[in-house]
Amino acid sequence: MRCGRELSRVPEEGHLFAVDWRKRVTAGLGSCYPGPKIGTWGTRGMRVGNAPETGGDSERSATIIGNMRFDIVTIFPGFFEGVFAHGIVSRALKNGLVTVEAHDLREHAHDRHRTVDDRPFGGGEGMVLKPEPLAEALEALGVRAKAEREDRERGSEGAREQESEGAREQESTRVILLSAQGRLFTQQVARELAGLERVVLICGRYEGVDERVNELYCDMELSIGDYVLSGGELAAAVVVDATMRLIPGVLGNEASGEFESFGAADAEIDIDVLGVPRSQHGAGGLLDYPQYTRPAEFGGVRAPEVLMNGDHAEIRRWRRGQQLKKTLKNRPELLERAALSGEDLRMIEEMRGGEMRGGQKRS
Ligand code: SAM
Repeated sequence: MRCGRELSRVPEEGHLFAVDWRKRVTAGLGSCYPGPKIGTWGTRGMRVGNAPETGGDSERSATIIGNMRFDIVTIFPGFFEGVFAHGIVSRALKNGLVTVEAHDLREHAHDRHRTVDDRPFGGGEGMVLKPEPLAEALEALGVRAKAEREDRERGSEGAREQESEGAREQESTRVILLSAQGRLFTQQVARELAGLERVVLICGRYEGVDERVNELYCDMELSIGDYVLSGGELAAAVVVDATMRLIPGVLGNEASGEFESFGAADAEIDIDVLGVPRSQHGAGGLLDYPQYTRPAEFGGVRAPEVLMNGDHAEIRRWRRGQQLKKTLKNRPELLERAALSGEDLRMIEEMRGGEMRGGQKRS
């Protein structure tokens, strides 16, 4: 489904919003969004995409139509300006398949210095992002505390309509804290997120975020790897990029999303072209096979002949072997969870035997 190609002006607010998209918001995300404020969130945030600007300073945000929406809460909204300005991601934004909006946390600090951090209780290094500005930023985005969402889901407010709205909001939205302490962000998580309507990402800084924000508002903590970044912005960009490319229509060639590292098992992919067996092989949780292009010979190394002989079935077999070989070499732990056929297992055995023999020769 592709929504809201028309843009129309909200005269009193001077921002742009999408008519159809607004309908989707009303019907889909409901009270997660503060209706009357449509087009005005994050007015000091960063608009990402090419919806026409309506004037104002360059940090002013506008809303771009799209099927999936990412809201990023950050003290550096400008960080995202360049990140999504290239390639597939930028095209998806331009085509209105995805909306990304960065919101300046400091808009929700109310002292003269726009303070968003404070010293940690119990002492220790650094500063911690305070809970009040973050809670206010989330509420301004229509994100209610989890308890309130759950109450609604249970229908404690009585109204059946609100009950289903709350349940739908729970289903279609995830509020995520980027954190080195989080669950590891993998292709599987990206797939889960790509099925949602809205993802709200909170970027920590300094020593992190007051844990009560996590407790009260967040559905999950996500880490992009076992290392510590200086802020959640890079992590948020990674999550948006990897998730976005799994949204139908974002990749020019629908099939290309299937044939990648960590992708679907071959048996799950049904894309033979006009009866011609495809030359690609689904990864089934493995790493991708290596790619080659012209010239056929470079630096004294020839591209594998098998790729140039036009025998699709043979190419496909060779590529499977390469997927196994790469995974065995670089990420052997992936083999444990991968979808492997009897033939795969035989090839792995052969490769392991080869490795052992090679090792013995060397010693
Ligand atoms: N004290 C924290 C710890 O040891 O877990 C690290 C804080 S880090 C300097 C500041 C912020 O960067 C975090 O709050 C988080 O938002 C982000 N961050 C750091 N490493 C990350 C990772 N691996 N994945 C996602 N976010 C990360």
